[in-house]
Amino acid sequence: MNDCLFCKIVAKEMPAEIVYETGRTLAFRDINPQAPTHVLVIPKGHYSDAAALADADDGLADEVLKAAHAVAVMEGVSEDGYRVVFNTGAGAGQTVFHVHAHVLGGRALTWPPG
Ligand code: IMP
Repeated sequence: MNDCLFCKIVAKEMPAEIVYETGRTLAFRDINPQAPTHVLVIPKGHYSDAAALADADDGLADEVLKAAHAVAVMEGVSEDGYRVVFNTGAGAGQTVFHVHAHVLGGRALTWPPG
């Protein structure tokens, strides 16, 4: 999509600190980190949110989740615990409408989230 920020990152038209990449996924550091590790994992193809990704039903949601776990291992946060969050819809705080998994770790994470 022409006006999608994360599509521009995929196309390398926008800079990003990429930490992990597979054929169909990309992971890069959040520009406004909420934890010592805060990485966004996206499918390279454009899906607006997690529901649209799930509806795609082609194994891509699995790949995003596997990439999120790979990032957690690479970042060294998998043993102490980490969180994977898909804000889905504006009411849940989604601001960028290209589905992304937030991978958060490296500090104690409280529950419930705000
Ligand atoms: P959302 O609120 O769940 O949609 O999350 C969007 C996330 O994208 C926020 O955590 C932002 O800090 C992050 N973000 C926005 N623009 C950029 C960027 O250009 N690079 C990396 N992260 C970004």
